[in-house]
Order: sequence, then C-alpha cells, then structure tokens
Amino acid sequence: MNTMAAMAKNQFHKSIEDISDQELYYLLLDLIKDKSKGLATNHSKKKLYYVSAEFLIGKLLVNNLLNLGIYDQVEEELQAHGRSLTEVEQAEKEPSLGNGGLGRLASCFLDSIASLGMNGDGIGLNYHFGLFRQFFDNNQQTAKPDDWLGGRTWLNRTETTFTVPFKNGPVSSTLYEIDIIGFKRGERNRLRLFDLDTVNSDLIQWGTIQFDKKNIPENLTLFLYPDDSDHAGRMLRIYQQYFMVSNAAQLIIREALDRGSNLHDLADYAVIQINDTHPSFIIPELIRLLTEDHDFTFEEAVAVVRQVVAFTNHTILSEALEKWPLTDIEAVQPEIANIICRLDRMIKEDFPDNHAVEIIDGSNTVHMASIAIHFGFSTNGVARLHSQILVNSELKAFADIYPEKFSNKTNGITFRRWIMAANPRLAHLIDQSIGDQWHQGISDLSGLSKEKDNKEFINQLAQIKQANKERLAEHLRVSKRIEIKPDSIIDVQIKRIHEYKRQQMLALYIIYKYFDIKNGNRPQTPITILFGGKAAPAYTIAQDIIHLILTLSALIKEDPEVAPYLQVEFVSNYNVTEAEYLIPAADISEQISLASKEASGTGNMKFMLNGALTICTLDGANVEIAERVGEDNIYTFGKSSDEIIDLYANNAYNPQDYYNRPAIKPLVDFIVSSDMIRLGHESQLRRLYEDIKSKDYFMAMIDLEEYIALKDKVYQDYEDQEAWLDKVLVNISEAGYFSSDRTILEYNEGIWHLEVADPE
Ligand SMILES: *Cc1c(COP(=O)(O)O)cnc(C)c1O
Repeated sequence: MNTMAAMAKNQFHKSIEDISDQELYYLLLDLIKDKSKGLATNHSKKKLYYVSAEFLIGKLLVNNLLNLGIYDQVEEELQAHGRSLTEVEQAEKEPSLGNGGLGRLASCFLDSIASLGMNGDGIGLNYHFGLFRQFFDNNQQTAKPDDWLGGRTWLNRTETTFTVPFKNGPVSSTLYEIDIIGFKRGERNRLRLFDLDTVNSDLIQWGTIQFDKKNIPENLTLFLYPDDSDHAGRMLRIYQQYFMVSNAAQLIIREALDRGSNLHDLADYAVIQINDTHPSFIIPELIRLLTEDHDFTFEEAVAVVRQVVAFTNHTILSEALEKWPLTDIEAVQPEIANIICRLDRMIKEDFPDNHAVEIIDGSNTVHMASIAIHFGFSTNGVARLHSQILVNSELKAFADIYPEKFSNKTNGITFRRWIMAANPRLAHLIDQSIGDQWHQGISDLSGLSKEKDNKEFINQLAQIKQANKERLAEHLRVSKRIEIKPDSIIDVQIKRIHEYKRQQMLALYIIYKYFDIKNGNRPQTPITILFGGKAAPAYTIAQDIIHLILTLSALIKEDPEVAPYLQVEFVSNYNVTEAEYLIPAADISEQISLASKEASGTGNMKFMLNGALTICTLDGANVEIAERVGEDNIYTFGKSSDEIIDLYANNAYNPQDYYNRPAIKPLVDFIVSSDMIRLGHESQLRRLYEDIKSKDYFMAMIDLEEYIALKDKVYQDYEDQEAWLDKVLVNISEAGYFSSDRTILEYNEGIWHLEVADPE
C-alpha cells in the first residue's frame, strides 16, 4: 500500500497527511478502478442481463474496498497517516440513479450476482441529475437537480455506441460502465448505463427540475422519472424506456453473437430479467431487431423472445401498472407499435373475449404487464403474500392460463452493505460469535441464538446500538443541523412518501401523543420519531403529508411541555447514505402500509438485521419476518390483506364511520386547528384534512386505534431493556433468510439457470 503515498506525491505533489479528503477520495477511486480492471470476469456461456430503469447503488468506496478484501489494509495505512475512511467517504457523492425500493433491490441483486460468481450485468440509463435532491423550505419539500456527476465518479466511458431509431430520427448512444466487484472472489461484473452525448443541462430552468420536455435529444437522460403529469412528460417516459431497451437489446444480441450464438439459440446465451414493466418494450424491440437485421420470421423471433425474457412484478397498485396510448408509442417508434399490434392479435386469437389478458384494450391503450406476462417465460412476485395476491386476484386471469410461469422470489438485501459496511461493530460482534461464513452465500445467522443468556454479548449489543445512535446524532448535527437526543428511543419511518405506506397514520399517532403528553402522561424515556423520504413533485397528497409532519415537528419543538419528551424530525433527502446512518441507530422500525399494498419492502429487512424491533401490518415480507421471529418478537396490528381486498371489492370502507369515532375525530380535526394553521399553510392542511376525513383511500383511519394502543405498548416494552434485547437478538438471528444471496440463488434455481462457479 505504499503505492498510496506514491500516488499522492505523483498526483498532488503532497503527502497523504496534506491532501484534502476530496483528493484522497480521488486517489482511492483511481486505486480501486485500477485494481478492478485487473479482476477476472466470468465468461460462462449463459449470461444474465438485469434491465432496470433504476439502480439505487449508494456510495461505492467502502463497499468496493470490502469486496476487494482490502478495507482493513487501506484503513490501517490511512490511520498511520492520521486519516480515516469515514472522513474520506464524506467526499463521495451518492449516485442518483434510483428512486426507492425497486432500484435498491436491483443494486443488492448486482452485488449478490457478482458475489456468488454468476455471469450477469445490470443495464440502465445514466441520468445526469438523477431523481432530485430534496430540501425543506417553509415546511415544504422543494426539489432541485441532483448534480451527482460533478467531479470524478465511478463511471467509465466506453467506446460502445448504438443507433436508436426514433421516428423523429436516429440518435446514437454512449455506454458508460461501473464495475460491480464480487465479494472476495477476484471477479467483477458491470452496471452498464446508456447515455446520449447531446444531452444539455442548460435546458433546465435554473434551480428547478423544470425543463423543455419536448427537446428529446437534449433532455433524454437529464432526470429519472421526469414529471409525467402532462402529455409531453409521458411521451418523454416512452422515449426513455425505448432508448434504454433498444440499447439493451442491441448489446445483448452483439454479445451473444460474439460468444458464438446463432441467435436461434439465444436462450442458451442470455436471460433477460426485467425489473417491473419499465423495460418491457424490450420484447417488441428484440422481435424488431431479429426480424429486420437477422432474417428471422416473426414467428421465429417470438419463439426466441418467449424463452429469454423473465418479468418481476413489483406492485399491485393499479395506478402503477403501466399503460400507454398506442398512438403515443406510434409517435416514438411506429415499428414497435406495429409489432405490439401483431402480438395483440395473436393473443386475441388465442384467448378470444378474455379482456383481462388483452394487450391493447378497447380504448387503444397498451398494457405493458400483459406484454411481459404473455411473451416472457416467467413472472414472479417479490414476497410470498404478494405472489399469492398476484395469482389469486390481481393477475388471476393470466395465472389461470399459465400457472407454470408464476413463482415467488422473496426479496433480500445484501449483507455486505447493510451490515458489514453500515454497521461494522455489529458485524464484528457476529463474527466473534459464529465466524464469518455468513458474509456470503447462505447467510445463516441462527447460530447467534446461543448467546441468549450471555450477559456479556447482550451488553455489547446494547452498547453497539448506543454507539450507532451517537453516530447518527453527530451526522444529523453536522449535515442536517438537527439535534437529537442520543439516549432517546429512536423510532424510524423511512421510505418513499405514499399514502399506502401511511406516513399520515404515524402523523396522527404523533398528534395523539402530543395530547397525551400535554395531559401529563410523560414517557419514561424521551421519544425521537424520524421520518425520511421523497415525494413525487406532482403527487399533491404526498406533499401535504410532508407539510403536516414538518408543521407538527415545529409545533412540538416550541412547546416546552412536550419537547423534552417527544421530538419529530424529517431528515431531508433520504437516500442510501442516510439509510446507512439511520438504520443501525433505530430501535423501532415502522412498516405500517395498508395490508395488501406493499409488495415486499426491503427496509423492513435492513432494520431487522440491524437490531430494531418492527411494528407492522401483515403486509409484504413483514408476514415472513413475523413467521420467522415469532409473535413475541414483533408487533403486528391491523386488518388483514384479505379483509382489505374485500373492502375494496365491495366498496365498503366508509371513512366517516371512523372519523366520527371519539378517539379519532380530535386527532384528524387537529390538522386544521388554529395551532397548526399558525405554523403551516391553511389551504394545504385543509386539503389533507378533507382528504382523510372524506376519502382516506388508503384507509389510514381503519387501523389507527389499534396502532395507537400497540405503539404505547412498544414504548412501554422498551423500558424493560433485558426483555427488549432478547427480542433484538431473535430478530438478528432470524435475519439470515433475508440475504439477497438467498434470493439470487432462488432466481437462478428457478428462472436463470446460470453456471455458478465455485469460490476462488
Ligand atoms: C431500502 C431502501 C428503500 C426501500 O424501503 P422500503 O421501506 O422497503 O420502501 C428506499 N430507499 C432507500 C434509500 C433504501 O435504502
């Protein structure tokens, strides 16, 4: 590692002691890129392409050092010069290429695929300003461009370029790559991100995320999920999707040819997993390329595609199942529209009058999931409950036709990032107890249960949690100007802001608790409730929920009767970096979505692994968590998914019935109280109040009373630390199942069938 000192001299004419964190970061970036270049890549015959509109990869410095197996060595070397990786890491900007759980899942999967030695790359787009950077101003979210590409990054520009034939003229792409280093196996895969050289940031109205939505050559990869509340915005989404999959399909075909495929045997060389419906235009695009460029008949092309594409469904929210007007697709790429029409005719012939499975409906709208299910060979859900709901109700018409295509692959998280990098103290404690087998592969942590009566071990668990709370407090103080009490109960809800996730229900609990404390019921240990999450700028109710929480936060801060016992903070710009501070410090994990609405969740798994206890509805993967830890070690409440599905089916939820209950009405009414209006914006508070009172589409009030009672019990239970820590230990010991290595092994067994190399 003397190389580092030499590199510092060489590049900056200074010693390691004297260079800035930024310079030191660049130096390590070069060092790692260099080492990575020397790693082998898997060249087994069949290759996986994981195509996704988002990859929420997080910072890579620490992870790459861990996966290269040189973290300790580098840290020692830096320490010898009075430097540390924790500081250097501050200089790294988090790539802004993802939005939430789906993008984070894709990133955990890439880490697992590489770490298990499989041949598989990710394919996506290189968004210059990502989703957006969230700020709070006047108790409101403001969205600014996230300039994550400023400075040097992990991206490597390649010579690879393809022509994408839009109706309005061809554009040529540029391929960038980020190395994905497998954990201690001397191998790497790649994340391959396509971009357009003509993209122009001057198109953005300064300081906003507004831009000319019609100038496709200059705007195409400016933002992830650009505003689609108008027609131009929706067209841009189609342009982005087509650009992504056309590049992906051309790359996949080129690589298969290079490896000896004649393309009729493409399924022996490639499997394409599409992450939700955003990449489903890859089906008609592959057919277009095979027929136009490779002499396939239409039927031959369809037959090949049907063996190659697999689809992961991530949602049953009907508004999230993508549909596009056929005329819009025609305007972007007429040949793709033609192919879709032809596929639609095939389906209408095979399944006459089965409207539930048609591709193009009576109003000439194209259902993307239908294309993916009919013309992919596999459809999977992401947690057991979710997959059951797909087969039994949401996609029943398809499952009846193709029962063999449907399966479940319960999500997971990579333990390299979510414990080894994010919570090294806990990782070391686990190593001391059960060794380091769990770092990779089947990550069995159940051996930890032997520590149940080991006072010393339990004591260390408690100390680690405390240290992580202090680390979080310091981080929030320095980077967000928020002061929290490190010895308070840390209760956390961090995820995208959406009505179905029910941040508004926790807000109503806060109002309850505010009253309760004012009535003299003071918590023994002070409570800190932390929120984090971005709201889509065009999603009004989500904006209003943020406003409600920020206004409540301000109200409580200025109330001397309550502030010593209860603090509410909204941590701005929630991303992977923030998650890595928040999750290891949390005592309580809030997973309170309306049952049946959260497909899986992966935040829930990260918290469990890091020793937080979960308060949750029986939704998504919470069901599987509860099953593993047992009812004594988790706090579940609320209506079941069956009950909720019935209520929707019969249109039988009446919010007024709940609003008028004596325990609920004062809480909802408080949203528009004079105290709140003094600190907030009346029109916004009133809009949310009216919505909850008379619509409450995601039924925040239906579970509210049970939730309030259970939360008070959770806080009470916290006071018995011995019993609490017993539960914490059970949660950590049972978290092994939720390793994404397990998930990826299941995808491979059931769907991909890639060769798996032995380690080393
Ligand atoms: C894990 C993660 C998510 C997903 O959280 P859910 O609670 O499962 O919705 C979203 N954003 C970030 C930054 C994450 O790390």
